[in-house]
Amino acid sequence: MGENTKACDLCGLPVEIEGFKLRTKEGDKAFCCEGCKGIYQMLHEETVLDVPDQIDETE
Ligand SMILES: [Zn+2]
Repeated sequence: MGENTKACDLCGLPVEIEGFKLRTKEGDKAFCCEGCKGIYQMLHEETVLDVPDQIDETE
């Protein structure tokens, strides 16, 4: 029970809603909310691979 619940990679609270995820050089990170995801992204800008809000699709 609860084995599938991950801890938020920023604040450590259980991640109950999937969808706040980032791919980083250190692996996938999961967050409990949009706020934690945003803060982590700011703090670890260099390691984050996927930045959904800033996808640059210049061809
Ligand atoms: Zn959190």
